[in-house]
Amino acid sequence: MARSATLLADVCCCIAQRRKSAIERVSVTEVFTDCACTACGCVCDDLSLHVNNQHIVAVEQACSLAESWLLGLAVEQENSTRIDGASASFADAVTEAARILSQSRAPLIAGFATSSTDGQRAAVQLAKTLRATIDASASRFHAASTLATQNVGASTASLGEVKNRADLIVYWGCDPVESHPRHFSRFVDSAGMFIPGGRADRHVVVIDAEQTATSKLADQFIQVKPGDDFKLITALRSAVKGEVALEKVGDLTNRLMLCQYGAIFYGPGIARQCAPQSTVEALLRLVTELNAHTRCVAQQLGKATGADEVLTWLTGFPLCVNFAQGYPRYNPQEFCANVLLERGEVDSVVFAGSDTICGLSEDAQKRLEQLPVIVLDRTQQNYAFSPSVEFTMAIDGVHRSGTSYRMDHVPIPLRAILPSSLPSDAEILAAIEQALSNES
Ligand code: SF4
Repeated sequence: MARSATLLADVCCCIAQRRKSAIERVSVTEVFTDCACTACGCVCDDLSLHVNNQHIVAVEQACSLAESWLLGLAVEQENSTRIDGASASFADAVTEAARILSQSRAPLIAGFATSSTDGQRAAVQLAKTLRATIDASASRFHAASTLATQNVGASTASLGEVKNRADLIVYWGCDPVESHPRHFSRFVDSAGMFIPGGRADRHVVVIDAEQTATSKLADQFIQVKPGDDFKLITALRSAVKGEVALEKVGDLTNRLMLCQYGAIFYGPGIARQCAPQSTVEALLRLVTELNAHTRCVAQQLGKATGADEVLTWLTGFPLCVNFAQGYPRYNPQEFCANVLLERGEVDSVVFAGSDTICGLSEDAQKRLEQLPVIVLDRTQQNYAFSPSVEFTMAIDGVHRSGTSYRMDHVPIPLRAILPSSLPSDAEILAAIEQALSNES
């Protein structure tokens, strides 16, 4: 009796131990260090992600924007591949997308601004095959800024150089505390090689139409009426050239000319109620003129820039490229996605990333209601139009490794942290291309 009781106790103990080790196995948390975040153009690559049971359970170094995004990622993304709103298999969706595109005479490929290099490369390849137009600019302001840079040139620097050298930082028409939450702490607050005191050694100026979260952290806030930015830039240029002595801009002019190293970050707010391209051109000319007196650089505070890079390697042009003649033709006035949609000059669209759709004008968005649209997105969205085919794709930097280009054009490697059965955008586009070649 006593022996059988001992045996039972041993068995119970053994079961309890097995259970305990099973629980421990499930709750083992793996920590991935030096992970990159693609939620904004800073592409911070120093995050630590704690993964438990194929789920991100904690993040270190992340800002609130990244934290809510990463912790909110579902364990397994819902596969919402659809044809005309109804669930469909991946193979059927690929076949339908290929059918639409093979019947199209003027397809447009747009978005892909926040994709990884592989997705962008596949988008260019598909545009070549289809003799389509591809415009992957991150926003209309981003396109205007790119064109301004082409017209007048730009003095730029990596964010690392700004951190190490800049003693004057100007944020013009942008609010990084809200849009790029770690920009200030990583590149302004931190000590640099030649800026040992960090924030204490830098003078920070914010120029905007109204107080912002960033202006509250700045040493100086200069309020300009919406639309007066161009006038202020012109006044500064005159003052830098010594043509006029303007008291109102005298202090800023002196700071810009007498600093050791100035960095101006600008955003869409610089062109409120004025032509974005001319305004950015004027700013870039100001920066060029300042370089006669000191070192000064300008940088758009925007999204990742990989789409510009990949299009430029593969076609020679950064945006608005048309392959209708069998070779790349560049004309931003003619082949801009927004313009083509507004004019009704396309008969099908492939889009990646719903944020690009939000950046289109109202008329261009309305046009999408009348076209067959193939959408690739990270999660199922409620669009204002009815897509013909929808794919849910794996997320680069979470489910797939790759490369993303930071806002300063520095390539940052992305790691795969979680498994996903969903295809990446590159895989979806390659499957469509394969289906097209099977058809022909
Ligand atoms: S600043 Fe941008 S890239 Fe950096 S952690 Fe926040 S959202 Fe991610």
